[in-house]
Amino acid sequence: MNPWLLPLRRWCAALLAVGVAAVRAVEPAPYLDPAQPLETRVGDLLGRMTLDEKLALVHADSKFTTAAIPRLGIPRRWMSDGPNGVREDVGPDTWLPAGHTDDFSTAMPPLIALAATWNVDLGRAYGTVLGSEARERNKQILLGPGVNIQRTPLGGRSFEFPGEDPWLTSRVAVSYIQGVQSQGVAACVKHFAANNQEEQRGSIDVQMDERTLREIYLPAFEAAVKEAGVLVVMGSYNQFRGQHCCENDYLLNQVLKKEWGFPGLVVSDWGGVHNTDEAVRNGLDLEMGTEPPYDNFYLARRFRNGILQGKYPLALLDDKVRRNLRVMFASKVFDPDRPAGAINTPTHQATARQVAEEAIVLLKNDGGLLPLDKGRIRSVAVIGANATRLQAHSGGSSAIKSFYEITPLEGILHQVGAAANVTFSQGYLDPDLSSDRRPGAAQPLPDADAGRRGEELAARAVEAAKQADVVVYVGGLNHDRFFDAEGSDRKDLKLPYGQDELIRRVVAANPRTVVVLLSGSAVEMGSWLGQVPAVLQAWYGGAEGGNALGRILFGVVNPSGKLPCTFPKRLEDSPAHALGAYPGEHGTERYAEGLLVGYRWFDAKHIEPQFPFGFGLSYTRFTYSRLAITPVAEGNASAAAVTLTNSGPRDGAETVEVYVRPLHPSVPRPEKELKAFGKVALRAGETKTVTLPLPRAAFAFYDPQRAAWVAEQGDYEILAGGSSRDLPLTAPVRLAATSVVAH
Ligand code: BGC
Repeated sequence: MNPWLLPLRRWCAALLAVGVAAVRAVEPAPYLDPAQPLETRVGDLLGRMTLDEKLALVHADSKFTTAAIPRLGIPRRWMSDGPNGVREDVGPDTWLPAGHTDDFSTAMPPLIALAATWNVDLGRAYGTVLGSEARERNKQILLGPGVNIQRTPLGGRSFEFPGEDPWLTSRVAVSYIQGVQSQGVAACVKHFAANNQEEQRGSIDVQMDERTLREIYLPAFEAAVKEAGVLVVMGSYNQFRGQHCCENDYLLNQVLKKEWGFPGLVVSDWGGVHNTDEAVRNGLDLEMGTEPPYDNFYLARRFRNGILQGKYPLALLDDKVRRNLRVMFASKVFDPDRPAGAINTPTHQATARQVAEEAIVLLKNDGGLLPLDKGRIRSVAVIGANATRLQAHSGGSSAIKSFYEITPLEGILHQVGAAANVTFSQGYLDPDLSSDRRPGAAQPLPDADAGRRGEELAARAVEAAKQADVVVYVGGLNHDRFFDAEGSDRKDLKLPYGQDELIRRVVAANPRTVVVLLSGSAVEMGSWLGQVPAVLQAWYGGAEGGNALGRILFGVVNPSGKLPCTFPKRLEDSPAHALGAYPGEHGTERYAEGLLVGYRWFDAKHIEPQFPFGFGLSYTRFTYSRLAITPVAEGNASAAAVTLTNSGPRDGAETVEVYVRPLHPSVPRPEKELKAFGKVALRAGETKTVTLPLPRAAFAFYDPQRAAWVAEQGDYEILAGGSSRDLPLTAPVRLAATSVVAH
């Protein structure tokens, strides 16, 4: 070796060592390095935090934030409602609007409407809009989706949730969450669990058997955790088996965290925490909404004192902080490649409109009154206060301050243009239309003259109906107290403000009347349905609702929505009401109907609903011709191949619904349950085969003895068709052996 080389090599090695040390000195901490594994980053950051910094992450420092920790580069964490658009900002310690000018967002139709589209691709697009707008508004956590099952049509928040069926609700939840989280924003599935009414929502103690819990009320949450990887779960206000849900050991520790392996954080509903010990020990990770001062929160000073006194091991706090940090890292809070957001883009508006369009359900269309023909109609009488009422900015925590909202009347005008004369009459007295709706504003005294004014409005509407070629009546409910609103349930199933009588008079004056209903769940229609030729269920349409309705009415779009909840003829036909099991007694509510929620009850009791679950007509016709069950090679799963034809005159879209019926189950089971569906577009005359997976889990029930889902050996029938009460195709399936299935 060249003698010069040795010192040169030593010199080089020394230089390298100095270089590495220098690089190390400026290397970012592991938690700031996106290349490090998630758990390494979480552990590293946790190890750098003081007790007070840790505590700052497990409780609020304003209505919707937790404190920043600038020393460690942890930003202030903003959360926001809501499930159908990023809510307007409220003041730090109040529910009153903050008065910002940059807190608008696109009002999407609520989740009952999204469910009515039965379109999971649209669910993903919907979530993507929300995630993108939340990102732009600097929200780390979006407080949606709400996935509570519609147990009674009276539930004040029915409009916020995807209906009565666990499978449909799960599919909506998964696609929505995937969309939101693709934008670097954490979704928050809520309200866990059994939060199925607003009546006494903060205290009611819900009791139900384990099978009902597992088969009806938990599947959407389980799918959110296991399939969609939701980052945040919100506990609910109510109690479950004697313990409040935000501090419920069974639900949070045993089921959610141990059984399902949920790694993310549990946030309380706002003001849903009641007890320090239970909040500390039973699985809550972030406390929000308790009355300030913020140091007074259960997970603030009281928790701190407990730790210092040795009552609570530090590990309990560390676990909570780890979960909070995991969510921050998973939603890329510290990383440069967090997706950029945007608000109210043309794509967002187009998605809002498509959801509203695909959600509208054609309930009746006798004599083909719809679609209306622009070329032949010279006058349209639009009647009903909902034709001009703005809906998006009300209803509780899901209210949206939208940039704009196209009302039904505007949507009709956009379609008709100068082709026909359009008149509008309010028709009924909606008292809220003349009141000041700002929070805290003084409300007018009851109107002694209401009867006379109501009659005047009705008489004018009837007159307008007589003069017109066609009437479009736009009524239903709204987001006022005791209708579709958080904080109270509906009092009955009836249309308010004398609308039943008004509709009867209008249709008597002009039989060419289309009734359009805006509502979050069923209303009673029996007193006029026989006379009215055409009915559309339009839910609430968000920013583009009016355009969507106009395009459906005039046939630019063919309706393809289907009901995500049963529409009963009478309230007493609905299970919780038939059994007197709502709204509970002495603070407790036993879910006496058990598994028989929604169509499961109507099937079991042979009750004819007004409109069944899954029902929805089209301007064209679909003919179902063949159902083939194909066992898939690996043995575990099969698939249902359904062939259908668009045998009518127009292009359209149809949702194929597949139900499983166990023929001789060893335990009582619902007569049939929805286990697969798929939406398909078909040109007039076109035939397609839709293949839908039917995994073994589709045959399973929950066996509490084995604490497992069991697919029992025996015979089953697969039913396929276009509604839960119109299933023309059937095929037998035999399971040769009983097996436990992972869910
Ligand atoms: C609602 C939640 C909402 C929270 C924050 C509560 O009253 O139940 O759904 O996310 O308020 O606004």
